[in-house]
Amino acid sequence: MVKLPIYMDNHATTPLDPRVLDAMMPYLTDRFGNAASRNHKFGWEAEQAVESARKEIAALIGADPREIVFTSGATESDNLAVKGVAWMYREKGDHIITCVTEHKAILDTCKHLEKDGVRITFLPVDNKGLVDLDDLRNAITDKTILISIMTANNEVGVIQDIKEIGRIARERGVLFHTDAVQAAGKVPFNVNEMNVDIASLSAHKVYGPKGVGALYVRRRSPRVLLTPIIDGGGHERGMRSGTLNVPGIVGFGKAAQIAREDLRRESAEMFRLRERLRTTLERELDEVYINGDLEKRLPGNLNMSFAYVEGESLLMGINDIAVSSGSACTSASLEPSYVLKALGVGEDLAHTSIRFGIGRFNTEEEVDYVAARVIEVVRRLRELSPLYEMAKEGIDLKSVHWATEA
Ligand SMILES: *Cc1c(COP(=O)(O)O)cnc(C)c1O
Repeated sequence: MVKLPIYMDNHATTPLDPRVLDAMMPYLTDRFGNAASRNHKFGWEAEQAVESARKEIAALIGADPREIVFTSGATESDNLAVKGVAWMYREKGDHIITCVTEHKAILDTCKHLEKDGVRITFLPVDNKGLVDLDDLRNAITDKTILISIMTANNEVGVIQDIKEIGRIARERGVLFHTDAVQAAGKVPFNVNEMNVDIASLSAHKVYGPKGVGALYVRRRSPRVLLTPIIDGGGHERGMRSGTLNVPGIVGFGKAAQIAREDLRRESAEMFRLRERLRTTLERELDEVYINGDLEKRLPGNLNMSFAYVEGESLLMGINDIAVSSGSACTSASLEPSYVLKALGVGEDLAHTSIRFGIGRFNTEEEVDYVAARVIEVVRRLRELSPLYEMAKEGIDLKSVHWATEA
């Protein structure tokens, strides 16, 4: 029997890998030194641990260890990348290009800068979730200082053509930042092959601890300079002051090492499980829709809408499975996800969408349980739905004139 509840929300966060915890433990106990203490063994030990973690994280993305800046997580990394460039290159230009489906850490940072007079272009996406490269080319002006486009989307798992975007940026002499949080460690991601200048990473999305992240900052061709957003002591080559989270960084390093060594096998396995889930649902249910491009997609992501069911009832029906829905409960109303909206998914289908995030610790047995539960609940809800019945009878619902009560 499978153990309930089942965790299948690995885009929100991932469980800590036990091997990561083992690596961290000494640094939570005996080896508590401050990595900036230069006068004794406690400090040296901590510094050495930080430097080996830095190497591992650099190795995961094909960077030089000196190009890795540790932060408190990817929200901070995204802030540092975008604000750091905007402030440092203010003389050169005042225009930034990003995209409507970015994580809030990018969107809210850009909106903040907009209030301070920076011009922001929010590129649209097509119905597959992809940015049009001609749109991107046309948006660049001689005042553009940064393009920030995420590698893989956290809701629909869509992977942008990062290599080509990087090439365009470089041709035009514009810096290129990518939020690679969902991609690094899940699919091949190499900053040199992909022409990336700045990249955000987060430990807790790759089976490491929460509260630690990194920013990759290119050192040559081009050399990227950033104005820090946190001052005080000049740690991390002046780009991010503050005592380093040594246990967190050690855990991040171990997580990066495991992800790198296992990438091929693991990503094939995630793909196998995702396809098993997708094909079972598509075989057993009609009127289901996949949100986002199916090919250019994270192996462990499935985002699917189930027509003719009520979103909340669907989630309630599968409450022994931890997944995400395409509606965010705000205090007053049920808002459909801005990402699905940007893909042109209608409100009804957005409300009945589910994001399945398959991860390292999910099993085939769990996938089969999830598929069976979803099928059972969707069928049951549809039995109660007059709309589904009418659609099955071939009635075009758009042609129906509904009587509305006063
Ligand atoms: C989770 C996530 C973030 C935020 O990372 P934190 O380390 O939790 O601050 C940023 N971008 C993407 C794409 C994410 O999935």
